Amino acid sequence: AKHAGGNRYELADPEADARAITRHGLTTALPVALERGEFFIEYQPLVHLGDGSVRGAEALVRWLHPQHGVISPDRFIPLAEHTGLIVPLGRWVLEESVRQARTWEAVTGADQAGLPLRVNVNLSPCQLTHPGLVSDTVEILERAGLAPGALCLEVTESALIGADDDLLKPLRRLAEMGVDIALDDFGTGYSNLANLRRLPVSVLKLDRAFTQGMQHFPADPVDLKIVEGIVSLAHSLDLAVTVEGVETGAQADQLRELGCDTAQGWYYARPGPPDRLHELALADAT
Ligand code: C2E
Ligand code: CA
Ligand code: CA
Ligand code: CA
Repeated sequence: AKHAGGNRYELADPEADARAITRHGLTTALPVALERGEFFIEYQPLVHLGDGSVRGAEALVRWLHPQHGVISPDRFIPLAEHTGLIVPLGRWVLEESVRQARTWEAVTGADQAGLPLRVNVNLSPCQLTHPGLVSDTVEILERAGLAPGALCLEVTESALIGADDDLLKPLRRLAEMGVDIALDDFGTGYSNLANLRRLPVSVLKLDRAFTQGMQHFPADPVDLKIVEGIVSLAHSLDLAVTVEGVETGAQADQLRELGCDTAQGWYYARPGPPDRLHELALADAT
């Protein structure tokens, strides 16, 4: 990997080298990679659709393999889940992201609504069932000195399908402490809309599939109706709606009109190094 400007690692074709290693090769290299500190996190801004201000960022993990360059999480997260490494890896991501969010808070202070920049961290289903989830999270927040309200944990819809009370209990505890829980990739599973009331979530993240459906202009009126319906249902349940994969200004305008609250996507910014977030947040404060 080349060190191309700032803290961003780039290859001519970032995935070309990575494709060369086998699943087995990746799996055996994973535990060592964690010990050697080969993982790093990029942050992608979350932007308020109403006023365009940066409200926080999603933490997205990457693996800088010494021979193969940057490997995408879509390739190694499933392997880490399979081998159980996701528990220590996920804990590392949480700790690192929370520490990072605390430094944003120190630089940018609170926004007009009195909220610091938030950080969203993805949780795997295996982390949900791990008994240390609540105590680790509390400890990590306390050690960094970050308010629980500045953390949002993203859980996929599929991880919570048919979830019983035992699975929901730790999430409820976290929600009671003030941690936000987001339902990620919403709309890709078998969304049982009635089920939403039972879940301790405060944010719905509409999957990129919805935004992609709006790439063509004019967008399919049925797609628009579906999004409109989801947004109104979410709002009636006091859930905020975040949309992913916003790539054009036209999509952003349409999603704003449909009542979505927050957006994330290449139109605003690609995932990038943590320092870029204060620059973006400070730029919009001035
Ligand atoms: P996700 O949680 O749905 O994350 C959003 C993905 O969409 C990210 O891919 C992001 O880079 C990409 N994206 C953002 N904006 C756009 C856009 O405008 N257009 C397009 N085409 N893509 C966009 P990424 O970083 O490759 O991550 C892929 C998946 O890996 C994530 O999907 C998440 O499921 C998983 N993942 C990433 N980091 C972690 C982690 O720390 N823990 C766990 N458990 N999973 C993670
Ligand atoms: Ca996510
Ligand atoms: Ca997602
Ligand atoms: Ca996804």
